[in-house]
Amino acid sequence: MSNTANIEFIPLRQALIGRDTPIVRALPSRQRKMVGAWCFLDHAGPVSFAAGEGLDVGPHPHIGLQTFTWMIDGTVIHSDSLGNEQIISPHQINLMTAGHGITHTEVAPATETRMHAAQLWIALPDSHLHIPPAFEHYPNLPVKDQDNLTYTVLVGDFLGLTSPVQVYTPLMGVDIASTTTASTTLALRPDFEYGVLLLEGSVSINGQELGMEQMMVSATGLSELTIALGDNSRVLLIGGEPFKSPILLWWNFVGRTSEELKTAREQWANHDPRFGDVTNYPGERLEAPTFPHLKESQ
Ligand code: MN
Repeated sequence: MSNTANIEFIPLRQALIGRDTPIVRALPSRQRKMVGAWCFLDHAGPVSFAAGEGLDVGPHPHIGLQTFTWMIDGTVIHSDSLGNEQIISPHQINLMTAGHGITHTEVAPATETRMHAAQLWIALPDSHLHIPPAFEHYPNLPVKDQDNLTYTVLVGDFLGLTSPVQVYTPLMGVDIASTTTASTTLALRPDFEYGVLLLEGSVSINGQELGMEQMMVSATGLSELTIALGDNSRVLLIGGEPFKSPILLWWNFVGRTSEELKTAREQWANHDPRFGDVTNYPGERLEAPTFPHLKESQ
């Protein structure tokens, strides 16, 4: 299927993270919970700020997912309870596998004045839900120039290139950037569902303009997509095999039952060693919100 029958444009919403850094949240939304295993997508910036007033997200836990940061402009320092401290610079990825449990912080360096990034979460499959936590920094990703577009393969395979980023379900992610107006038809996998988010500039998809306040999502069955980028534009294309298990996502946790999320919340509140500590952060850690009543399926 190459027509527009199974794609739709869904609205994004505004949110604040850390110490009041504004972001736009694309996933999850009422209209769409996941694209493959991608279960969370925040777009931060592009934004400029005074030195010392950048991103500051204090210690907080994660379980059952991988956090995936794609840096477009500016720098952020990641620190975690495994002892990793890693600055991420433009065109690099930080991948933190929470698995059974981890704590981390994300803080702009004191001299930083810019940020443009996408942070996504990847749900771990049942078989890997409780794997040991890990952190990996990927300073170099495969890049290909074709049709006046620059493709950076962030996850999975695309245009014959393979990303080194380790994931646990069939998944892909590609950054597509232009300097001049450029158009192409992308070959897609019909067994994947897809999402497209505009990161800067302008784009139309199959002839329909996608705004900054929207995300394109598709069901499976799509074999190609025609995209036209304006000058100095950038989009994020994500895709994956439909996730096999219904997930529960609450606060910073992904699980399968409300009981396991509630247990993780209590363990965080009680400083359980499951999550460890970030030792280089001067401020307070983040407290979990009150646990709600959750439905046992998405
Ligand atoms: Mn986090």
